[in-house]
Amino acid sequence: MVVEADIQNAVVELLRRTVVKLPSDVEEALVRALDAEVDETPKMQLKAIMDNIKLAGEGNTPMCQDTGVTIFYVTLPRTCEIDVERGIIEGVRRATSEVPLRPNAVHPITRKNPGDNVGDGMPYMNWKVGNNDFIEITVMPKGAGSENMSQLAMLTPSQGVKGIKEFVLSTVLRAGGNPCPPMVLGVGIGGSSDICMKLAKQALLRPLDERHKDPEIAGLETELLDALNMLGIGPMGLGGKTTAIGLNIEYAYCHTASLPVAVNVQCWAARRGTVRIHLDGRLEFPTNEE
Ligand code: SF4
Repeated sequence: MVVEADIQNAVVELLRRTVVKLPSDVEEALVRALDAEVDETPKMQLKAIMDNIKLAGEGNTPMCQDTGVTIFYVTLPRTCEIDVERGIIEGVRRATSEVPLRPNAVHPITRKNPGDNVGDGMPYMNWKVGNNDFIEITVMPKGAGSENMSQLAMLTPSQGVKGIKEFVLSTVLRAGGNPCPPMVLGVGIGGSSDICMKLAKQALLRPLDERHKDPEIAGLETELLDALNMLGIGPMGLGGKTTAIGLNIEYAYCHTASLPVAVNVQCWAARRGTVRIHLDGRLEFPTNEE
């Protein structure tokens, strides 16, 4: 029988694994980028990133000092009497001192920092009810350097696919070296302004080597990624062939008079992790096995 303390423990362990080790698809994409670069500067930058990842793993320490704010995606079983929300909040509080995580969450106006990454609306949780007999919790620690480069555009339908492409490219050009490239881009298309921003962030949850199931969207993902890698921004903004290692799109139907597009910018430290808490207490970490 799972109790709230089990949720807390699972969240602490999930956050520890997630800030220390990247999902294998991200690491593999970085290795491919290192192989593809020919000039010394981008090679050196990617090599430094790979060394950083290795040292983080060996020392069991976060791969970047900015351990982000904690965005959660939770899927509950049809019946669940545990206070999962409280378990997550207390888990974040404990992880901040136990992992440790940098206390990043502050009041937006007073800038007061409670020191434990917990405040109104943070950690932020997205909720779903599923058919599984386990609780699934995914976390995306999101650093500010990349998040600050994210953008939304409310295009008119007449701007169409051309407008979408121009907006994605101009967002990445404007970001330049600020989000610690190589970047990963989550693109949301459709819905309304708020839905579109959510879709863009949610797109970052899909493994980089998995294309969208809709072939038209999958084609757009590939085309945009190729185009971004012709911009020459390169690793850490110092030039090179690899400006982005991945681009995923999620879409939703929208009003006939709207065409919202959102880009959520992610850095090379594209951290995401999932824990499954089975009702007998067993934990599974599908993205961050040790
Ligand atoms: S953008 Fe990413 S890699 Fe750069 S400092 Fe922020 S979290 Fe770290």
